[in-house]
Amino acid sequence: MEYKLLIDGALVDGASAIEVVNPATGQPFAAAPRADEAQAKLAIAAARRAFPAWAARDYAGRRGYLEQLATAIEARAEDFARLLTQEQGKPLEQARQEVMGTVAALGYYAEQELAPRTLRETAEDRIVEQRYPLGVVAAITPWNYPLLLLMLKVAPALITGNTVIAKPAPTTPLSTLMLGEVAAAILPAGVFQTLVDRNDLGALLSAHPGVAHVSFTGSTPTGRKVLASASDTLKRFTLELGGNDAAIILDDADVAKVAPAIFAGATTNSGQICLAVKRVYAPRAMMDALCEELARLAAEAVVGDGLEQGTTIGPIQNRAQFEKVLALIEDARARGTIVAGGEPSSRDGYFIAPTIVRDLPDDARLVREEQFAPVLPVLAYDDLDDAIARANDSDFGLGGTVWTSDVERGIAVAARIESGTVWVNKHLDLPFDVPFGGAKQSGIGRQQGIEGMEDFTQTRIVNAALG
Ligand code: NAD
Repeated sequence: MEYKLLIDGALVDGASAIEVVNPATGQPFAAAPRADEAQAKLAIAAARRAFPAWAARDYAGRRGYLEQLATAIEARAEDFARLLTQEQGKPLEQARQEVMGTVAALGYYAEQELAPRTLRETAEDRIVEQRYPLGVVAAITPWNYPLLLLMLKVAPALITGNTVIAKPAPTTPLSTLMLGEVAAAILPAGVFQTLVDRNDLGALLSAHPGVAHVSFTGSTPTGRKVLASASDTLKRFTLELGGNDAAIILDDADVAKVAPAIFAGATTNSGQICLAVKRVYAPRAMMDALCEELARLAAEAVVGDGLEQGTTIGPIQNRAQFEKVLALIEDARARGTIVAGGEPSSRDGYFIAPTIVRDLPDDARLVREEQFAPVLPVLAYDDLDDAIARANDSDFGLGGTVWTSDVERGIAVAARIESGTVWVNKHLDLPFDVPFGGAKQSGIGRQQGIEGMEDFTQTRIVNAALG
């Protein structure tokens, strides 16, 4: 299959090409077109040209395009899913869920509308808040959910009247390119475009005066760069960044119920989820039973190629991340006790068996840093206040979970966690109508829900004297 960039309504070759590696084999399996700066500038110019007509349509005039796009993606759902598994690594069933989530996100946003809001209506005056689109949006995405995270930007940006340039991570460009191919037959030229780079065009997009908004999902260090490069033109931005989410287990929790939920929360998508469980705080008396149960679940997991039937945990997405995780495991081995996993796989590809580590000090790398891998530190606490303080002792503040048999107690603990989302007795429940985003250095702005649409608009107050 030959992949093309979508620029100004045309499917075109890149200025050069990059190899895309299947993380389950460590071998290239496809080539992607790579755009150069000139192509990026062409895309920005085309997006600017397309903007007035797209913005001038009302919601009803744009809705049909989003619905058509959803139908067209759904018609190719299996192609998208298999491609996602090959480029990203996740088990095919999880890839299918990502594709259907993408279709559902489009469907949800197709139906939404930001109506003007009357702030005051008296005999003397009428004051109305209107929202209008910003212009060209750069949607910059990471490699863990290449399609779903992109659509959580594209759908709200398009329905509110913006034009969008999608720039995926260099290791997972193909699903974005396939989306471009599908969109080419549906959307007017310049309304949606795709650029693939080698980590060199994100900075151009973030700094370019022709881009009005950068919607960025990725790591906190790159997010800081986006923030800096947006400052010259005071452009708008949304930053969805890293996390180091704590799971706090209360002393009344049932280990048999909680352990599978925590294990899934830490290992789904090989732990490469911004909102994954990244550290566990458990009452000291519960530690042995909990670690035993987590180790049992780790031993039962089937680590392998996502295209193989029965695989529950796929590879780490890319070599750089794989090597970072191996270094974190070595550090953990030196400072704690590995109760499951911890050994590199003998097969080709970037496989890490689910790894459970206990007895680490609070300053261990695996506790402080975002591992983005199925490698989980389990830490003991003696006093709940202390556990909450340790959970909050982080520059990150994306999510978190509380596990208990007393939900009201759980909600009271959640209210003390400094994070954008805290779940009680559940995890990764992210309905499209509920906004999410980071506290502290986990981000600025919100995605999903109406707030996730508002981020792509500018408010205008129209204040009229009556009579
Ligand atoms: P990354 O920061 O390395 O890359 C993200 C994107 O930024 C890529 O497309 C990359 O090409 C681009 N980029 C690189 N340099 C840039 C620059 N100077 N300016 C603009 N863009 C640039 O992140 P990653 O390693 O691909 O993804 C993993 C990270 O993403 C983790 O930290 C994870 O927690 C985070 N993440 C956050 C969320 C969330 O919603 N908060 C969701 C998923 C992933």
